[in-house]
Amino acid sequence: MNTEKSHQLYQQSLNYFPGGVNSPVRAFGAVEGTPIYFEKGKGCHAWDVDGNKYIDFCCSWGPLILGHSPEPVVKALQEILNLGTSFGAPTKQENELAKLILDNNRFIERIRFVSSGTEATMSAIRLARGYTGRNKLIKFEGCYHGHADHLLVKAGSGLATFGVSSSAGVPEAFAGETIVVPLNDKEAVAEAFQNHQDDIACIILEPLPANNGLLIQDCDFLHFLKRICEQTGALLIFDEVITGFRLGFEGAAGYYNIAPDIVTYGKVIGGGLPVGAYGSSAEIMSQIAPDGPVYQAGTLSGNPMAMAAGLAQLSECLSEGFYENLAEKTHLFTQQLNESFKSNNLSLKAINVGSIFWLSFSEQNDIRAAHEIDPGSMDAFGKFHRNLLNKGVYLGPSGYEVGFVSDAHTENDLSESVLKICDALVQTLN
Ligand SMILES: *Cc1c(COP(=O)(O)O)cnc(C)c1O
Repeated sequence: MNTEKSHQLYQQSLNYFPGGVNSPVRAFGAVEGTPIYFEKGKGCHAWDVDGNKYIDFCCSWGPLILGHSPEPVVKALQEILNLGTSFGAPTKQENELAKLILDNNRFIERIRFVSSGTEATMSAIRLARGYTGRNKLIKFEGCYHGHADHLLVKAGSGLATFGVSSSAGVPEAFAGETIVVPLNDKEAVAEAFQNHQDDIACIILEPLPANNGLLIQDCDFLHFLKRICEQTGALLIFDEVITGFRLGFEGAAGYYNIAPDIVTYGKVIGGGLPVGAYGSSAEIMSQIAPDGPVYQAGTLSGNPMAMAAGLAQLSECLSEGFYENLAEKTHLFTQQLNESFKSNNLSLKAINVGSIFWLSFSEQNDIRAAHEIDPGSMDAFGKFHRNLLNKGVYLGPSGYEVGFVSDAHTENDLSESVLKICDALVQTLN
């Protein structure tokens, strides 16, 4: 496969950006070769600048639940484009997207739009601290919540891949306000509350941790977190930047039927444009400025183009059977993968929850915590990734990243992908 133009663009980028990229995992540090530069996407396919075509399972890291350039989103953007791109003042598009979300979600009564998942989680933490008047937060090893200072403590994928446990530039005093505990470990959580009972503002977690492999939690553990928050007055924050509008319209909260106190959204909510959001009860949200003392603002928040794209995408997600169909397709896909792994004597396992899937490079069942993933099992991923690219399938460039199936992936695309993934694995491992 010829990737000459991608390679040239990458060489140029090195003169412009740290590591040649605007987000670290894109640099292909954990896989072989240099980054692929994309030119266009349609449905489940993306084309690079050299004209190579890929079945795309990265889907921009999750936002593209309808695939690339879905007609409703493109149309909505074309319609709004000529009216101006931003006013820094209220527009009706904000109301429309908020109404659609709040009318179809039992877990939040008020919402605030921001421009990224990082902003959403950062603001949710500030809200929890403002509301409770407490300082500390509990986060879990292997959960990623964006790159705000307090949350960049032993975070997931990019960091796990690069083998650093936290970022330079975060004062110890900030990191010291974050208590990091292992997932699926009730004792560790209970102990943290014993030690800091009166000063824990919140627990934040990805209810389905999907940034460090796919670490499916027991429902029982999630209920435990809910209970301990109720008992201690701490708030439970579900970071649903990946799972929101992905596991179902109500995200993981609806999927597990557990009511968090604050929820954060990103990725799917913006229809491929930069949108994040956080929401809660009317009472808790009344703490946010201008109603309350917790400050949070944004020049481009609620931007009309982003709102229109989100509205178009989420309206499609509400159509009858949308999530059932996605989940069924994805489950069939992982089943076919597992059968194929077996018949090729490959010790791998494909798992999925809804349309999120992960290829675990071991046959181990029920991996629930980050430390249970053997880093050595990832050694082969870098080579496999390149072999798979050469066959025309694009996965996120790290073995710790999950993949996403979109509405645009047909059963044919998925069967074709099963063959290519197994071929690439056999080529890599034998
Ligand atoms: C992607 C992600 C974020 C950060 O969102 P950005 O839009 O990249 O800032 C936060 N939390 C989770 C769970 C994510 O997957």
